[in-house]
Amino acid sequence: MDSLQKGWFSEFSPLWPGVSLSLQVEEVLHSEQSEYQKINVLKTKEFGTALILDGVIQCTEFDEFSYSEMIAFLPLCSHPDPKSVLIVGGGDGGVVREVLKHPSVESAYLVEIDARVMEVSRQYLPNMAVGLNHPRLKVHVGDGFKFMQNHEKEFDVIITDSSDPVGPAESLFQASYFDLMSRALKPGGIVCSQAGTLWYSLPCVSSTLQHCRSVFSSTAYAAASVPTYPSGQIGFVLGSLNKDTNFQTPLRIFSPSELETMKLRYYSKEIHSAAFTLPSFAREALSKV
Ligand code: SAM
Repeated sequence: MDSLQKGWFSEFSPLWPGVSLSLQVEEVLHSEQSEYQKINVLKTKEFGTALILDGVIQCTEFDEFSYSEMIAFLPLCSHPDPKSVLIVGGGDGGVVREVLKHPSVESAYLVEIDARVMEVSRQYLPNMAVGLNHPRLKVHVGDGFKFMQNHEKEFDVIITDSSDPVGPAESLFQASYFDLMSRALKPGGIVCSQAGTLWYSLPCVSSTLQHCRSVFSSTAYAAASVPTYPSGQIGFVLGSLNKDTNFQTPLRIFSPSELETMKLRYYSKEIHSAAFTLPSFAREALSKV
């Protein structure tokens, strides 16, 4: 790996020029070129095992719960009764693990383009990949964009847990993808897509929100803190077919006993509402979309 020098991995991407996060590495556990991308698994000194695709950090054992819980429960708790859920990407299994904790979810479908990401995650990230073995999960290996073209009115919630908009995930950030998702949803359905950081990618966040707004009646951007993502912040674009959806106010509030069973470490009803309150510079930029 070019990005591994003197025991440190450094993350470089044209999406955040001039800045790089470095993690101290104890061991390279795995390295391969799959059909779609370069897959590396690193044992880091402070953040546990890290999955890196094409040189970009996808998750670390230390902080993945923040992202996995937020991308799952923001849309699920904004829907009155989510029963069928589609996850696009998400081959590490962390988001599926969270989705299937929600008491009303009956079935989940995962569409991941790269079977090797799932196999490598099963081997090196068992606490995330546990989600991939759930009996109520169906897995399809293939492209999420193509999958969406063949499904109509099937899902209550669609979560796009993709890598960044370069390489195989590029199509998942286009306007036509949001249109396809709106057709694959049942009436009143909700989408939630990984949408990047306000600090380095505001133009990309704005265009993703614009694509969402062009087909969904109610839309919003929510922010979460994840230290190993660029700028330590990531966000989600949400859209609902129901014009009365108010994303800031969750419809489903977990009881204390549900919370205990679910073992949530980041998501709560308070953080759900707070995630939609944006700093002024971002609120102003996104209000122009
Ligand atoms: N949470 C991570 C992030 O924000 O960087 C994403 C994690 S998950 C590992 C991303 C997955 O999306 C990868 O395994 C990748 O193979 C998958 N993916 C990329 N493009 C895809 C596509 N067009 N269809 C389905 N899966 C795709």
